[in-house]
Amino acid sequence: MRIPTHGLTRDEVLDRIQAMKADDLDTRGGRTWAYVYDTGRREIDEVAEEAYVACLHENGLDPTVFPSLLGMETDVVAMASAHLGGDEEVVGNFTSGGTESCMLAVKTARDHFAAKAIPRAERVMDRAKLVLPDTGHASFQKAAHYFDMDVVLVPVDPKTFKVHPEAIAEAIDDRTALVVASAPSYAHGCVDPIPEIAEVCRERGVLLHVDACVGGWLLPYMERLGVEVTPFDFRVDGVTSISMDLHKYAYCPKGASVVLYRDRSIRRHQLYACASWTGYTVINTTIQSTKGGGALGAAWATLHFVGDEGYLDIADRTLRATRRLIDGLREIPGVEVLGSPEMSMIAFTSDEFSVFEVIDLMKERRWYVQPQLRFGSSPENIHLSVTATSLERVDELLADLAECCEKARATPPDPDLEKLCETLAELSPDDFTPETYAEMLEMAGLGGGAELPEEMAEINTMMNALRPELRERLLVEFLNDLYRHDETG
Ligand SMILES: *Cc1c(COP(=O)(O)O)cnc(C)c1O
Repeated sequence: MRIPTHGLTRDEVLDRIQAMKADDLDTRGGRTWAYVYDTGRREIDEVAEEAYVACLHENGLDPTVFPSLLGMETDVVAMASAHLGGDEEVVGNFTSGGTESCMLAVKTARDHFAAKAIPRAERVMDRAKLVLPDTGHASFQKAAHYFDMDVVLVPVDPKTFKVHPEAIAEAIDDRTALVVASAPSYAHGCVDPIPEIAEVCRERGVLLHVDACVGGWLLPYMERLGVEVTPFDFRVDGVTSISMDLHKYAYCPKGASVVLYRDRSIRRHQLYACASWTGYTVINTTIQSTKGGGALGAAWATLHFVGDEGYLDIADRTLRATRRLIDGLREIPGVEVLGSPEMSMIAFTSDEFSVFEVIDLMKERRWYVQPQLRFGSSPENIHLSVTATSLERVDELLADLAECCEKARATPPDPDLEKLCETLAELSPDDFTPETYAEMLEMAGLGGGAELPEEMAEINTMMNALRPELRERLLVEFLNDLYRHDETG
């Protein structure tokens, strides 16, 4: 691909984009049960889209020259803080998403820890530690990787998928900069025992981040609808920071999240300034420097347009869909719902048939349901994120799921694949070379840069057999191959 000599027309450009989207998942209509959040109310999207465009060309790089963005960010953070029981001491910032919010919380804790550690020379030499339940979001491990910290991964209870506060207490030592707990976890929708964990953290003088990326917006509404919700927000003494995505259950366009801190003495460590170069003075709240105002404007608009009553109604529909889904799943023979989901994120497994087979069969019926590989005490499973629009689709989904599970049960396991998986399970990261990678791709039918097949069950089964470190190595190679331009076009 080269820059066209003569620019295309407006229609040509837009038509080509539409054509490229032909194979994308549906983002609206309730058939996609992960990645997208849909209220089912088109007018909400429209307001957000107009606000997005209205703020598109401003630059969040410098809050002093685009005061509209500073004002909108302050408003959004204030609404978020009030929603999570924050007082006037709570401060925060708007970020590009959950990953950026979580990474900033980790970076802040690292620098907070380093500042505290200065009198003790040996501590400065040591890498700071992050204590993370193994159900905690991957973005925390990504943060530790980027910011040169050690992760102490704490296994959760194999039945409840919640971490034990005693296990957290045992994992803390004098290098611990931050403890993380989820409200709820993405994978299983379970809320960690945050009041008990907060008590441990207070006693030990360690910061506690509550990852409410997926739950922060919805859980307070669930509570108002009569659901018993584990206390998780700033009302719990000892919680020092919270991440909450607006592009999930606040239904804002993607690129919208907030990270909040108990007070400014902690948030200080998030901020960055650079005056030691020849250019403009850099003052950054987030990882990005130049950034459009679109996502912020759209978030501000969405919160104002939907309003508290609107969100309560959306939450009510989501809750009803979730209850219907869980009841329906429990009636499908061989299906086991993992843990006791406390919100609208559901995972189910089966030891009677292949869940990966079910995913492919559902795909043939135009449903997207998400595979989750086995890790720790969690078996391979299917994840479903329920949204407001799920209510119109849940019965249809359950009927198809029941049929697909029966069909998967009737599919005998492939003895060759089973044997291969036994071999794969034995492989260690040391065995991994570019040649083994090529061999594995060949085995998966992906040799020679072939496209991803329609059927993923075999690949998922093989991935599931591998040790996590090897999965990671393989995925990096895969990604390194995927993002290449073709020579011919
Ligand atoms: C989605 C999610 C994140 C990360 O958010 P992104 O917006 O995808 O970067 C972090 N934690 C939890 C619990 C999440 O559900």
